[in-house]
Amino acid sequence: MAREVEKKAVFDTDSAKEVVKELRASFVAGKTKSYEWRVAQLKALLKMTEENEPQIAAALRDDLSKPELESYIYEIAMLKSSCRLALKEMKRWIMPERAKTSLTTFPSSAEIVSEPLGVVLVISAWNYPFLLSLDPVVGAIAAGNAVVLKPSEIAPATASLLAKLVANYLDSSCIKVVEGAVSETSALLEQKWDKIFYTGNGRVARIVMAAAAKHLTPVVLELGGKSPVIVDSGINLQVATRRIIAGKWGCNNGQACISPDYIITTKDYAPKLLDSFKRELEQFYGKNPLESKDLSRIVNSNHFARLSKLLDEDKVSGKIVHGGERDKNNLKIAPTILLDVPLDSLIMNEEIFGPLLPIIMVDKVEDSFDVINSSGTKPLAAYLFTNKEKLKEKFVATVSAGGLVVNDTTVHLAEHTLPFGGVGDSGMGAYHGKFSFDAFSHKKAVLYRGFACDAFVRYPPYTRRKLRLLQALLGGSLLSIIRALLGWS
Ligand code: NAD
Repeated sequence: MAREVEKKAVFDTDSAKEVVKELRASFVAGKTKSYEWRVAQLKALLKMTEENEPQIAAALRDDLSKPELESYIYEIAMLKSSCRLALKEMKRWIMPERAKTSLTTFPSSAEIVSEPLGVVLVISAWNYPFLLSLDPVVGAIAAGNAVVLKPSEIAPATASLLAKLVANYLDSSCIKVVEGAVSETSALLEQKWDKIFYTGNGRVARIVMAAAAKHLTPVVLELGGKSPVIVDSGINLQVATRRIIAGKWGCNNGQACISPDYIITTKDYAPKLLDSFKRELEQFYGKNPLESKDLSRIVNSNHFARLSKLLDEDKVSGKIVHGGERDKNNLKIAPTILLDVPLDSLIMNEEIFGPLLPIIMVDKVEDSFDVINSSGTKPLAAYLFTNKEKLKEKFVATVSAGGLVVNDTTVHLAEHTLPFGGVGDSGMGAYHGKFSFDAFSHKKAVLYRGFACDAFVRYPPYTRRKLRLLQALLGGSLLSIIRALLGWS
């Protein structure tokens, strides 16, 4: 008996095969396709979230000491809002979309039918472990798919809560959670999926994409990058500073994919900006931020060591102008600002994903675009604080990133009407709102014809007259069509 329990706990390739087999059988039987099933599952997901808010917040506190308010806004409330939106809009999303037809197929009508892809895999990351796990699942369910969710082992309390709750509330013949780390994920990745939706870093994204390529499985990759913030002069500095702080330290202490990674401002404006940061940071987190209950801790000792290495590099020594305090035992790092760090330092060459914020100085604010574009990678988000219309226009025209925000940070995430996703190194594909539904749907082209008007020109024998008529029909004037019909050369 003990041996059996032990055997059951191992999730290997055979277990993964079994899971996919069960889910595929449900999908093929049409269980997930009905509108009623989708509604019932989305309602159950909403209910599950509503009934377990304290447990979810407690798991997030265990995993990251995430402040309750942040857990509520960025994980619980956002998921509920996604469920509600899908429930409200799904009927419209599912409706076939009429498409125009041309003379080529006259008379005909056409539509684009959204059909579910099948059995999909969602692999999520640790930093927003509740939302990043279930938000893609909302899209997968709305689009009528069966889903396996593999949450991150780095947020174990949330992962095991998700496994328990999903099994209790959702249809387990179609939606399952598989807990585990590299070996379990590898076993899952060996299987044939109809889509893989991965959130995490670029190194693992390459592993995911290589595994997907073996089965020609399409992927959505939600990755990260170095999201810059350009700060121009002549702005409402206090509001700007607060909005940067909210997007950086107020988002999981900087452990968020769209958190400001570094700032670019002019040499003249940097001292003012720095003073403002110091003032506001002290007001928000007190004189000893390591003690603040409003800052998440660093997720684990590996990430603590990674961030410490960025701070301890010789090239950046002496560049810390605010913060820098660390508490290794409690995995805490205070909000830390570095001024004038060299562009070839480690901190400027990898995603920081933590509470460190370098400020780069340029002569003119317009030079900021060159700093961003010369990095050779496209960030997940880019931010600009300015009152100048010309600068906004240039920002939108020249900076390529997953998303841009003018005069705020991170809040584009909350707009369901905007696609959320990266470009280049920051990822491929997008989700949120209808984009989530589209990410898990195939857009099937359907053309309807009758038996009238059977164009003789497409059939052999291919005569000169038929060719003339075709040339006239497909590119000529009305006169040339009439001439060709009458056989005049
Ligand atoms: P992570 O360590 O939790 O890894 C993500 C997932 O990959 C986990 O489920 C993990 O089990 C799996 N995994 C890890 N190694 C693997 C391997 N060798 N083979 C197969 N699967 C493996 O999370 P992370 O990568 O540290 O997440 C942080 C990164 O994710 C940052 O770059 C961040 O910017 C990015 N991110 C992006 C978004 C977004 O929406 N674009 C959101 C959050 C985080």
